[in-house]
Amino acid sequence: MHTFRAIVLVAIAALGSAACAQQKGTLAAATQTLGAADMKSIQYAGTGKWFQFGQAPSPVLPWPAFDVSAFTASVNYEAPAARVEMTRMQVVEPGRARPAPVQQKPVQVVSGTYAWNMAPPPGAAADAAPAPQPQIEAVEERTMEIWTTPHGFLKAAAANNATSEPAGDGSDVSFTDGKHKYVGHINAQNQVERVQTTIDNPVLGDTPVEIAYSDYRDFNGVTFPGRIVRTQGGYPVLDITVSSVTANPAVDIAVPETVRAYTAPAVNVEMEKLADGVFYVKGGSHHSIAIDQRDHIVVVEAPQSEARSAAVIAKVKETIPNKPIKYLVNSHVHFDHSGGLRTYVDEGATIVTHALNRPYYEKAWAAPRTLNPDRLARSGKAPAFETFTDKHVLTDGRRSIEIYPIAGNGHNDAFVMVYLPAEKILAEVDAYAPPAGNAPPPATPSPFAVNLYENIQKLKLDVRQIAALHGPRVATLNDLRAFIGQRAATD
Ligand SMILES: [Zn+2]
Repeated sequence: MHTFRAIVLVAIAALGSAACAQQKGTLAAATQTLGAADMKSIQYAGTGKWFQFGQAPSPVLPWPAFDVSAFTASVNYEAPAARVEMTRMQVVEPGRARPAPVQQKPVQVVSGTYAWNMAPPPGAAADAAPAPQPQIEAVEERTMEIWTTPHGFLKAAAANNATSEPAGDGSDVSFTDGKHKYVGHINAQNQVERVQTTIDNPVLGDTPVEIAYSDYRDFNGVTFPGRIVRTQGGYPVLDITVSSVTANPAVDIAVPETVRAYTAPAVNVEMEKLADGVFYVKGGSHHSIAIDQRDHIVVVEAPQSEARSAAVIAKVKETIPNKPIKYLVNSHVHFDHSGGLRTYVDEGATIVTHALNRPYYEKAWAAPRTLNPDRLARSGKAPAFETFTDKHVLTDGRRSIEIYPIAGNGHNDAFVMVYLPAEKILAEVDAYAPPAGNAPPPATPSPFAVNLYENIQKLKLDVRQIAALHGPRVATLNDLRAFIGQRAATD
């Protein structure tokens, strides 16, 4: 009997302490511990690393790193608005030849439904005065950055009827804001330890974002993490060691009139004939090539997005009527060159890509696409691939289209160029972009361009036109020679 009573008493005591412990690790406790209710704005600064999302040097490597010597985020939770400024420089990985890193000082701003960068105008000199450059497509990501800060998460949770459930040493707090679901873990110290959400990306679909907050301490009266690590698509995009925090600074971010008045232009596609049946598909920052084969069309490159692909496909079919697009040749996996691939899969084209890229695309394209369902998400078609690791030829019996890995190029390890032997046309991207007008060649030759030239020489390709898929114009082999500081040849 006594033993029984003792057990009951112990059990009640245990329940009591469990109930007491439940007061910790909750949304209310974290809001109080972090002083979130009184935090109308915050500024935090530090140093660390930034990583270039979508630009991995190989489909099996993480996003490439930049050293960040200065980082300042200024957030106004009431607007909501935020400005992130950093000074960064690319880290050149051992054994990888890259152009000499140049210091970058990006300034990225969001306010409500507007986003812009402060940067020299397009085409101006790099040291020209910065002016607001609209970045409509960045609103989603930059808004996410506001509501995934520790204080922002707690505020948004309170404003969006968050639900909580016990998890580990604390609780998981969830809410949705528009299309986006946020889940944060609050630990036994009443700290926001981790926030997870998803953002849309043309390649990865619903892209997981996770921000880990650790090393919380007192910064001049503000409880704030000493380390912030954000991963996006499975790899870090930011790793900051915080050195200072200011509570409720003045963060006044006015939307510039030019940004407010800006409307994105319609996608522009221009066809430039390079040879019979060969078209340079331009009109924006990223180009493609369309080749009219006997009973089908081959398109080289599907850059950027579904919007770009849809416009290119329409124009190509108008120029080359009554033939299907049978093949889409992909230069490399960088997102600005692969964001439009899925539209071609939906169109019924086979994706022709280096063998290293296939598993990457298969995995990426299997991810859910609830935030921004594209054509392929709706049709559910299975992608078809044709892969290679060495020279690969597409032919209709008349015209050969040769595809070659650009061997040993530091830009990417699964990187290809396309050569038309009859027309002597080379299509490539990111190895060489001809400069506009009479701009002088770079003082130090780009190792990417030097390597491209070495590959052309080694393969003995007779190149008369270089259709660079970035850049203002068709170039010649002598242009490339001049660009890398070599004398022109007279052939
Ligand atoms: Zn690239």
